[in-house]
Amino acid sequence: MPDGFVKSTNFKAHKSRAISRNCITSQWHGDEVQLGNWAFDEAVKKSPGLYIHIPFCRSKCPYCGFYSIPSASMTKRWIKAFKAEVSLYKGVFKRFDSLYLGGGTPTYLDPEDLGDIVQFLFRHLDFSSDSEITIEANPGDLTADKTGIIKDLGFNRVSLGVQSFDDRILSYLGRMHTAGDSEKALEDLRLCGFENIGLDLIYGFPEQSIKEWDSAINRALEFNPEHISCYQLTIEKGTAFERMKEKGTFKPMNENEEFKYFMKASNILEDKGYLHYEISNFARDECHISRHNSKYWHHVPYLGLGPSAHSFNGTSRWWNFSSVRKYCEALEAGRLPSEEYETLTAEQVRLESISLGLRNIRGFDRGITANEREANEILLMARNHGLVSFTGSRVIPTRKGFAVADRLAGQLCSSF
Ligand code: SF4
Repeated sequence: MPDGFVKSTNFKAHKSRAISRNCITSQWHGDEVQLGNWAFDEAVKKSPGLYIHIPFCRSKCPYCGFYSIPSASMTKRWIKAFKAEVSLYKGVFKRFDSLYLGGGTPTYLDPEDLGDIVQFLFRHLDFSSDSEITIEANPGDLTADKTGIIKDLGFNRVSLGVQSFDDRILSYLGRMHTAGDSEKALEDLRLCGFENIGLDLIYGFPEQSIKEWDSAINRALEFNPEHISCYQLTIEKGTAFERMKEKGTFKPMNENEEFKYFMKASNILEDKGYLHYEISNFARDECHISRHNSKYWHHVPYLGLGPSAHSFNGTSRWWNFSSVRKYCEALEAGRLPSEEYETLTAEQVRLESISLGLRNIRGFDRGITANEREANEILLMARNHGLVSFTGSRVIPTRKGFAVADRLAGQLCSSF
């Protein structure tokens, strides 16, 4: 736990607020947010989600650990292989109620290719009529025309990779867009009629002061987005930042600094009425919790198509090759492009329920640790430090708990 961890937080007591017309009320009790269980269930539903990994980007950002190649030259071959993969899964999963195009950069594709992919999915797989349909977009790719095309294709949610509103920081992060591009894209999305816009910001690198972080969040708020993700930079294997770190030219933040930035975001956004519902995610109200991403945190089945995409059917998990070439070769030979497959044991499910539960306000069921003396002592200590609360049958992390979720989960899981 970072030094000064407990002292540095300032919680509001008993704050409750009504959410918009169609949402239920959330209650703040000290640092703890309580949701009706059904609210999260509604966001997740029990239907599976569909994720599509578009494996192309204009260039490779120095911090990015996701699989993508900085070229679109294999697009046509990839789309053909992708359609074969869709066909192999026809009827295997129940009706989907979320579709998420991520990557990589979906908006890097030509509008015709994007339309081809989406229309193929709608023709060959089954979606409920109220599906959440999200596309990740890079601000530099979104012209007013392209925004209109995305809307016409049926997307009802856009997740915009803004990252920062400071051009110096954007250039440090290797982004190909400017703050002006993001501002224009946000305006175009609203003009086009998008009513569910998510915006990603990033913190935790040496070039960024707390003042800049504060102004990035406040600038984001001027666009009144329905959802904001504040991601802490992590140094991923094989990235340019990892090489810089090894050479000593990149010095990551220490835990105390990270905690300061984390709480800055949480304080500003909660004061503006956003719900800090997952470690990195804030929704303007419960209706705008990401339905698709919530499935990952609650062991709801999902199908992932495209290179490096992961799938889960409720008991087993499998994932595709992280290589466009290997992915295409497998499908051209009539085979699924899966690289590995694992069946989850009951113990794995239990450990995952704890580590995922400590990262979102649904928490986990206390019954999971009922027979574990040491784990229960750790949980009591965590509660005394204000890291979790015991609410009914559940262990619910507080915001301070979010900040140390991985460490607390590690301690609990290694105590079994
Ligand atoms: S951060 Fe996004 S745009 Fe940058 S390389 Fe990764 S997937 Fe591509």
